[in-house]
Formats: sequence, C-alpha cells, structure tokens
Amino acid sequence: MTDFQNYIAGQWVASSSGAWFENRNPADTSDLIGRFPRSSADDVNRAVASAAKGFAAWKAVPAPARGDVLRRVGDILTARKEELADLMTREMGKPLAETRGDVQEGIDTAYYAGTMGRQLFGKTVPSELNNKWAMSFRRPIGVCGLVTPFNFPLAIPTWKSFPALLCGNSVVFKPAEDVPHTVAVLVEILLEAGVHPEAVQLVHGLGEEVGAALVSHPDVPVISFTGSTATGSIIGETCGRMHKRLSLEMGGKNAQIVLDDANLDLALEGVLWGAFGTTGQRCTATSRLILQDGIHDRFLDRLVAAASKLRLGDGRQAGIDVGPVIHAESLANVERYVDIGRAAGNSLSTGGARATGGDLDKGWFFQPTIFAGVKQGDRLEQEEIFGPVLSVIRVSDADEAFRVNNGVKYGLSSSLYTSNVNLAFRALNELDNGITYVNAPTIGAEAHMPFGGVKQTGNGHREGGWEVYDFYSETKVGYVDYSGRLQRAQIDNY
Ligand code: NAD
Repeated sequence: MTDFQNYIAGQWVASSSGAWFENRNPADTSDLIGRFPRSSADDVNRAVASAAKGFAAWKAVPAPARGDVLRRVGDILTARKEELADLMTREMGKPLAETRGDVQEGIDTAYYAGTMGRQLFGKTVPSELNNKWAMSFRRPIGVCGLVTPFNFPLAIPTWKSFPALLCGNSVVFKPAEDVPHTVAVLVEILLEAGVHPEAVQLVHGLGEEVGAALVSHPDVPVISFTGSTATGSIIGETCGRMHKRLSLEMGGKNAQIVLDDANLDLALEGVLWGAFGTTGQRCTATSRLILQDGIHDRFLDRLVAAASKLRLGDGRQAGIDVGPVIHAESLANVERYVDIGRAAGNSLSTGGARATGGDLDKGWFFQPTIFAGVKQGDRLEQEEIFGPVLSVIRVSDADEAFRVNNGVKYGLSSSLYTSNVNLAFRALNELDNGITYVNAPTIGAEAHMPFGGVKQTGNGHREGGWEVYDFYSETKVGYVDYSGRLQRAQIDNY
C-alpha cells in the first residue's frame, strides 16, 4: 500500500485529520494505486498561508527567469512522458495514445509559457499633456486556487498553473479525487525545475470539503475551475459574493454536423474519435451527430458497424480503442440515460449495456452506444451525459442543422463536414460555440490557441494561448509627469 501526501509549506505531509481516500484503477478496481490525504479546511489554511509567502518570493523573480523555469518544466515532462502517460492511464483509464497526448499538451503549454516570460507586454501611448508619459503594464495578482476535473489529469492542471506561475502568482492545486497521482508528480516536476517551494501547494481531498474551503478562502483572490456546470454554479456564487476573479470552464453538448456533400469517410473517422475517444468523457466530446437527409441512412449504417467493432479494455494494453468510464456512479449515470432514451422512444442502434466478459468484468466498461431518431428537445439531445453515448438527429438542410446545434444551453465546440466553402464560413460565424472545426471532429484543441465555450459552458474567460495571460495578471496603469507643474487632464489642455 502506498500512501501519498499533500505538499504544503515546502514539505510533503499527511492531512491534519489523518483521514485518507483510495485511488483505484477504473479498468481493474482490484488495482489500488494508493491512499491520498482526505484533507480539511485546516490543511487549506496552512497551504494558503504558505502560498502567500511563496507569492512574495516568486513575484520578485524576473518574468524571463520564470519563463526559463517553465521551459525546464517542459524538458522534464518530455523526459518523463512515457512514465507519466502510463500512470495517468492507470488512474484515469483512457488509452496510452491519449495520455501521451495529454502529456504532450503539458509540454506544449510549458514551452509556450517559456516564451511568454519575455512577452508580458504592456503599452506605452502618448499622453494628452506635454512632458508626461502614460503606460500600462501587467502585475501578478496573488494566490490562485486551481480546481480541476478527472478527464485531463495533467493537461488541465498545466493549462492553469503554467500561465499563473509565469505571471508571478503562486498556486494551490486541488486535483479531482479520481486522478490525484498525476498532479502529485507534476508538483515534483515544478519543484525540480526550480519553482519556489512555497509558490506551489497541493491539497488533496473531496470537492465539497477542500475544494469548497479553497474557493471560499479570503486570501485566494483568483479561482480557476474546470468541471461540471453544476459545480461551477456553486463556485460562481461563492466567488461572486467574495468578488474574486473567476474562470469557469464547464460542460458541453457538442455536435458534429454532416451534410450531403461531405467526405463521408473523413466524417466517419471524425465521429468515431469524437464520440468514443476518452470514452466520451471529454468536455469537447461529440455527443450529438446531426445528419442531413440525403446521407442519413447510409452514414448511420456505416457508423453502427464501425462502433460495434471498437476494442474495449485496459488502455495500457496494445490495440485498445476505448477504456472504462471513471467510476461506478458514472456507469450508473450512463445506464440512466440509456433508460431515458428508451423511454422517450429513441431507437437504440448499438450498445446500451455494460461491456462484460473476461477482463472487462474487472472495471467500469460500457459499450459504445448510439441512439438514432433523436429529436430536438429530447433529454438525450439536451443534457451532457459524459460517457460513450451518441445521439443522432436527422435534419433536412444546413439551416436546420445550425438551429439544432445552437438549441442547447452549452456552447463549447462544434464541427461541420462539408465541401461547400460558403457554408464552412457561415458555420464559423453562426454556430454558437467557443470553437468550430470544419472537416475535423469536435475535439483537438491546440495549446497555443484560446480554449473555452460560450453560454453555460463558460463565463467569458479563455484557457490556453495568449488570452489566459490576461486572466492571471492585473493591468496597472502608470503616469509620469515630468513637467514640474500641476497639469490638469481634460482641463488645462482644452
Ligand atoms: P466535477 O464538477 O464533479 O469536479 C471537478 C472538480 O471540482 C473536482 O476537483 C471536484 O473535487 C471539485 N468540486 C466538486 N464540488 C466542489 C465544490 N462544491 N467546491 C469546490 N470544488 C468542488 O467534474 P468532473 O466530473 O471531474 O469533470 C467532468 C465535467 O468537467 C464535465 O461536465 C465536463 O464537461 C467538464 N469539463 C469541462 C472542460 C472545459 O474546458 N470546458 C474540460 C474538462 C472537463
């Protein structure tokens, strides 16, 4: 039995209560990865007090030097890529090809952050008065609380912590309780690369306990959260009341649209990857497939045949396409949605049950599932399921497809397969999502581009790319008047 620890005030320590929670492999629940501290508000208080000291020390390091440290983080992640992918698949379940991609996203984010150390630009503009300079520049803010989900155990913590640290803030990690091991290794790597030992803190535990304590801590002015819309609403209330800077990245109900003039081979590969990659547990997963009349029947037939051939199993074994869902409640939730689809008269084309037999009995496996005949407004069409369930909706033309795409409360990503360039550009403009892909699936974000959604997927901020650096820094404006006399703006010059 391995006992893991929190990282607080420069030390690896157990929780103050001495309580633990277990972390098990979702592909084989007899495989216990270890026990992690079930921390309390006391542990959060100690972590935040230390992070405040870490902030004072780390912000004094020049930004280009902080960038050098982040570049070293990228080098270490590169050297440890295979090991990290393996431990991530063990605790999260997605196949190794996907966890390697998860690490690569962290590497890309680290090297991007390295370059940003020399690019935290401000602006110098002419003053309206003589002998006076006017300029803006960026300052770090303080302690950032980072609350992260289970589905990208490494990439999402790196999206948040690397720009936060590059800007000169300190961070407190609260990883999802299903994937605590990956962030523990990330903290080791940050320290090895040279991040100040009190600028990084790690507090394991349950969302309603340590997550809530971190979010409501008065000395944590910045919260960045990725997870479900339900949890985001609770966090949003707290942060609104306390006037905190808050970034929310939440649920999705993403659609792939296939029009009659599309390359169907390409669209088929796209939807298989989009709907069943990561077992449907991506915020950008394709959970709706909108098919135009002319190709609906033949595309559906090909899709059902291909989906039923996907190989399920332990993602650490070669040749596996689809891993397990994350835990028992998730499996029960997927089963509940299958019942909802059946009760609504949606037609089950394939799947619909737990995947069993042999090693599959050891974990939380569910068959790739496709419902056809789903109508706009059905619950399967409206609600995020976060599992391997795809709903197919038939439409007569592009206008109807765009209306169906936009008719949900979420707005993360969308995808359009067509060979009509005019419709491609209309889609970029008219689909209400933060990201639209043309002739590519709903998943596939790149680390140097802004990432996020509209409507109830987000609250207007973006992760990734250049935009996230605005979130983790505050604009300060400076005026220097060297005229030697009182110059009254708006008065003496007009
Ligand atoms: P979740 O909301 O259950 O948990 C996310 C994190 O919040 C966990 O660390 C959890 O411990 C913590 N938490 C739970 N209750 C809390 C509370 N009251 N206060 C503070 N923290 C609390 O989400 P999940 O099941 O881990 O992830 C799946 C969800 O995440 C899906 O809805 C998915 O769409 C979303 N997601 C969104 C994006 C995006 O960028 N938009 C990316 C990945 C996942």
